[in-house]
Amino acid sequence: MGDFNKITIIGVGLIGGSLGLAIKALQSPPKVVGVSRSEQTIEKAIKVEAIDEGTTSKIDAVKDADLVFIATPISSIVGTIKEITPHLKPGAIVTDVGSTKSTIVKTVEEFLPPEIFFIGGHPMAGSEQQGVLFANATLFRNSYYLLTPTQRTNTMAFKKLHSLLTGIGAQVLAVDPDKHDKIVSTISHLPHILSAALVNLASKQTKESKNLLLVAAGGFRDMTRIAASDPDMWRDICIENSAAILEALDEFRKELMSFQSTIEDRKESQLKDKFKEAQSVRLNLPEILHKDVSQLRELSIPVSDRPGVISDISVMIGRLGINIEDIEIVHTTELTGILRLVISGEENAKAAAKELLKHKYEVEIGKIYNHEVP
Ligand code: NAP
Repeated sequence: MGDFNKITIIGVGLIGGSLGLAIKALQSPPKVVGVSRSEQTIEKAIKVEAIDEGTTSKIDAVKDADLVFIATPISSIVGTIKEITPHLKPGAIVTDVGSTKSTIVKTVEEFLPPEIFFIGGHPMAGSEQQGVLFANATLFRNSYYLLTPTQRTNTMAFKKLHSLLTGIGAQVLAVDPDKHDKIVSTISHLPHILSAALVNLASKQTKESKNLLLVAAGGFRDMTRIAASDPDMWRDICIENSAAILEALDEFRKELMSFQSTIEDRKESQLKDKFKEAQSVRLNLPEILHKDVSQLRELSIPVSDRPGVISDISVMIGRLGINIEDIEIVHTTELTGILRLVISGEENAKAAAKELLKHKYEVEIGKIYNHEVP
């Protein structure tokens, strides 16, 4: 991968190990160094070929690294970045994979020196399993990977990380860190809490009739698979994102009470409408975009090379739910350039252009039949 010669992954577990495997599966991959607190994890990670080499010393591992992924539990991410910062080379890029973003991004940006570039990240892929032995080279393929650029995010660093993640098959969306926490509180954190609550409720009720859980039907199993996830990770997430989660729980309580009163009042048609609405939304959950190269469109946007421009533009497009397939920056002068974004689908390109125009950016849309996207 042209942009990186050495990538370090701190925390070679399910996500860190999967990143390693996916990166090593690239054509001409960079060297991947793993960091773990235990020699056994390093041995396992080398054996499954998730890393080329490993060490228990974060400091040794990050020397000369072009990119560092922090893939440890949320509660240790900020501390880890603080510890490695003095040992990073100027121009190094640091990113994390934590499931919450706001506090991490704010805290890191407060202490990080300007020559080190940080971009918060959150792969919307994973499983209830833990550890490198469950890592999977295709985990990120066709799944969303959220990046959370801010006004401080360096454009080139964002472009390089974006290209790498697109290269391993992810659909990268940019979103503001606070907005990220609000969105995932509903679509990810709330389902985990509900799943755990449902299992705990069923478990209480089956105390008398012990084998009832054995006959648990498909619906119960479908809704509770994620209750088998790592308790430490979910404790961390609930504490870190408590404000947004409490809000989501409150909204959910209202929804539940509305179901309750509809049932109590035997409002049959309203009840059916509620299920019908949910059925329709569920059946129409957006599919991952099929990449048809003839559908790719290139948006050319003249920009001044000021901090914040990449966050402005990528978050604006991410807010529309539109994935940027590729980014290129062509400098026309030292201070100005053309930002080229590749977007799939005429309609998406037009919607993105309309939004950019609304925010006073000039945009030109072109077709790129012969443009190879990694
Ligand atoms: P995991 O499989 O348990 O891996 C975490 C790794 O971090 C372990 O290999 C462990 O390695 C290391 N570690 C544990 N505690 C540590 C500490 N206090 N300090 C330093 N290193 C420590 O967990 P994971 O699922 O990959 O989760 C890692 C991160 O990914 C979390 O921040 C989580 O929020 C995020 N994430 C997870 C998912 C998911 O579905 N699992 C999805 C998206 C994002 P050693 O014990 O060998 O040192």
